[in-house]
Amino acid sequence: METFRKSRRTFIRNAGITGAALPLLGPVQAINEFTNAISMEKKKDKLGVALVGLGGYATGQLAPALQQTTHCYLAGIVTGSPEKIPVWQGKYGIPDKNVYNYGNFDSIRDNPDIDIIYVVLPNSLHAEYTIRAFAAGKHVICEKPMAITVEDCDRMLAASKKAGKQLSIGYRLHFEPFNLEMARLGSKQVYGKLSSMEGAFGFKAQAGQWRLDKKMAGGGPLMDLGIYVVQGLCYTSGMEPISVTALEGAKTDPARFPDVEQSLSWTFSFPGKLEGKGTASYDDSFNFLRATAEKGMIELKPAYNYGGQRGTTPEGPMTFPNVNQQARQMDAFAQSVKSNTPTIVPGELGKRDVKYLQAIYEAMASGKTVKIPG
Ligand code: NAD
Repeated sequence: METFRKSRRTFIRNAGITGAALPLLGPVQAINEFTNAISMEKKKDKLGVALVGLGGYATGQLAPALQQTTHCYLAGIVTGSPEKIPVWQGKYGIPDKNVYNYGNFDSIRDNPDIDIIYVVLPNSLHAEYTIRAFAAGKHVICEKPMAITVEDCDRMLAASKKAGKQLSIGYRLHFEPFNLEMARLGSKQVYGKLSSMEGAFGFKAQAGQWRLDKKMAGGGPLMDLGIYVVQGLCYTSGMEPISVTALEGAKTDPARFPDVEQSLSWTFSFPGKLEGKGTASYDDSFNFLRATAEKGMIELKPAYNYGGQRGTTPEGPMTFPNVNQQARQMDAFAQSVKSNTPTIVPGELGKRDVKYLQAIYEAMASGKTVKIPG
């Protein structure tokens, strides 16, 4: 909002328009000139991001974060809900020419204001919109999980390569200081060799949303929440799992979970006989990541929230500032695009994790140890 105000002041100053002169322009003309001026002013050094899907995460987190970014800004929206358009335009000064629906989405290729398309749709739509965004010649950030099958991930990576544009996954915790410290302490064995790891993420999911529909979500809490734990176990150990066993939790509410798991737990085997246990639930509240090392325990609790992480080490609490994870994540990607250097959270990492999620489901269904190919 502050950027918006500043831009308005700058536009008025540059245009030589005083407060008294402004009403002489018709309201529509004034708004159009104003938004064009913002667009031109910002375009000088910031990349334009279009959010696809204006649901909870785009509305509550990504759009506000894009008001705090330095290397990119909220340039456009893609929505199937016409009633959201005036609200977003009013709040963020998005010009008509940068508003799309799912029908005319492909014409975004002709819009030079949009450099990056951010796919924030239900999981089963990630592959389609990412591939269409690449066909439109744009860079893409896709939300987690990257897709619901490894085959879809392969198609997305091939589309990225063909377009010569970058693909990143919305892994915000790779830009969050407590999680980065957890990764450093664990993988560098700062407190000695790790002997075990455990993580869990869960909340009570309300009935009637796409997250509980296997076709839309690709699975239950593992796809949505367990993916954070999968990632946490990997970056804390600094290793890749070689096999997995898994067990579905009791289904105490089958009416709410007709086709996805209510909860499940899995155990990854890492090289050197290290095990990492994970739990994901749509029925219980959990939020931690911990590792036991020779000299004591390192733990984040809560570990996966948008802010408010807390961490402890054998030497005492971790102290880091709260940051806007999403702003950092999007700025880092914009810098990668600008400098043509690889993102630290690329599509390949998203595919790796979908492969692990599929292995966990296979182990859960078979009751057997499933080897994970490298
Ligand atoms: P949501 O249900 O709040 O929003 C989904 C949006 O997609 C809605 O605006 C809806 O209208 C739109 N949509 C378009 N076609 C649809 C269809 N066929 N069915 C249902 N909705 C459709 O969901 P959300 O929480 O914003 O999640 C969106 C994506 O973002 C998911 O992939 C989720 O995993 C991810 N996400 C990531 C984080 C994170 O911290 N990185 C947090 C929340 C969500």
